[in-house]
Amino acid sequence: MTKIVNHWIGGKTAEGASGTYGPVTDPATGEVTTKVAFASVEEVDAAVAAAKDAFTTWGQSSLAQRTSILFRFRALLDEHRDEIAALITAEHGKVHSDALGEVARGLEIVDLACGISVQLKGELSTQVATNVDVAAIRQPLGVVAGITPFNFPAMVPMWMFPLAVACGNTFVLKPSEKDPSAALKLAELLAEAGLPDGVFNVVHGDKVAVDRLLEHPDVKAVSFVGSTPIARYIHSTASAHGKRVQALGGAKNHMLVLPDADLDAAADAAVSAAYGSAGERCMAISAVVAVGSIGDELVRKIRERAEKIKIGPGTDPASEMGPLITAAHRDKVASYVSGAAAEGAEVVLDGTGYTVEGHEDGHWIGISLLDKVPTSAKAYQDEIFGPVLSVLRVDTYEDGVALINASPYGNGTAIFTRDGGAARRFQLEIEAGMVGVNVPIPVPVGYHSFGGWKDSLFGDHHIYGNDGTHFYTRGKVVTTRWPDPSDTPAGVDLGFPRNH
Ligand code: NAD
Repeated sequence: MTKIVNHWIGGKTAEGASGTYGPVTDPATGEVTTKVAFASVEEVDAAVAAAKDAFTTWGQSSLAQRTSILFRFRALLDEHRDEIAALITAEHGKVHSDALGEVARGLEIVDLACGISVQLKGELSTQVATNVDVAAIRQPLGVVAGITPFNFPAMVPMWMFPLAVACGNTFVLKPSEKDPSAALKLAELLAEAGLPDGVFNVVHGDKVAVDRLLEHPDVKAVSFVGSTPIARYIHSTASAHGKRVQALGGAKNHMLVLPDADLDAAADAAVSAAYGSAGERCMAISAVVAVGSIGDELVRKIRERAEKIKIGPGTDPASEMGPLITAAHRDKVASYVSGAAAEGAEVVLDGTGYTVEGHEDGHWIGISLLDKVPTSAKAYQDEIFGPVLSVLRVDTYEDGVALINASPYGNGTAIFTRDGGAARRFQLEIEAGMVGVNVPIPVPVGYHSFGGWKDSLFGDHHIYGNDGTHFYTRGKVVTTRWPDPSDTPAGVDLGFPRNH
């Protein structure tokens, strides 16, 4: 029987009243296993109303109360890691160990949220003028929304809601319609942890649900993570409706390999970062830039490693790489590989046409490695979001930096070298929000913020870390005078107040 995933509104499941459902597919079998409710405007309104109602008390709740609920949620999350990872594998396709990694990285933000009292301490200046003190405090915004992509169905929502609710906001999440079950499990765990009804709500669906959140007058801020065209649209639409917006987009992450690098370590890193999660990571390395004469040796080492990757269902512990999210996406990824030779690239490994025995209807594609890719090739210019690694050749460090900085994307990047001076220059000269030095996927820890530059992020705030707390609160400055009994009355003074 087909499973049904419903919305979560006001602390309980809400059946899809619109009667519209979307299919959820197991990418390893190609079978539709689940129907997910698609929210109408009225259902989104019901979720926002529940969140608005909950804000009247949650916004006033004590830090002690919020923190103890978050600690209980953390314990439940820890206990249910395997179950959440299994839900992710069943709908996304990534291998179980990778799904467990995703849960672990989401948990880091819950850790941060458990310590929210430290971040919300505020500031106090005493005696700024005679008998006058100034306090700066930060307060929640109200109802905030999160719209998330398919590739991290548990982690990316956890980049948002733990800090948002810890700051005293209430939350409406619109997860990806392709793998919605993990979000619902998180809602159930939050309720079990004691989060009051309506503080966290989930509406499933497509553009109808998203557009209503973007224009709803009671939604005060929108956090988005997804592809660049949609991020740009979310940023402009929600901003036009007067909301605070952070919209993280797509990526093309480069790894610059200098001639002095440890080439075995660089090849290990390139293969792990390019083909992990079948390349469906916003921080995947999709372009290796080889400097000087090392190109042939580096490509040989990458090839040797890539050929050994075991592809199969995410539920099989022997699998290192699973299928792609949909058959249509698989075909799109394949088209970049098929067209690469005509665009001037050398196809070293061709993963098109790959299948897994016994799972012929799964969304499979093998490993592809392209060498000497010209920057004009579509395989280089577009975010492919699949297991396709392009190698580009340049003569010097400067040529490599210029090539990377010419990309419209600026999410993550990495340099592999033994030269500390070159690495330091790279940190300062490269136009990207996250930089790795001999680290291929430099996803910051929870207490540092995550975010790209250029077309990889629209808005002023990175996500989580201090930026997250700042995004989910607004500042207020209180100036106080408690007159001393010995003060002489100031009398009326129409001049602009001066401190003395
Ligand atoms: P997507 O942009 O297609 O979808 C993201 C969300 O937007 C989903 O909830 C979807 O339902 C909604 N959406 C899709 N089309 C819409 C439309 N026309 N109007 C309104 N809402 C719409 O992204 P995806 O395919 O789910 O995820 C993959 C993309 O996300 C990749 O580009 C990847 O790089 C990016 N991503 C970025 C980061 C980051 O931190 N920068 C992290 C993860 C994923």
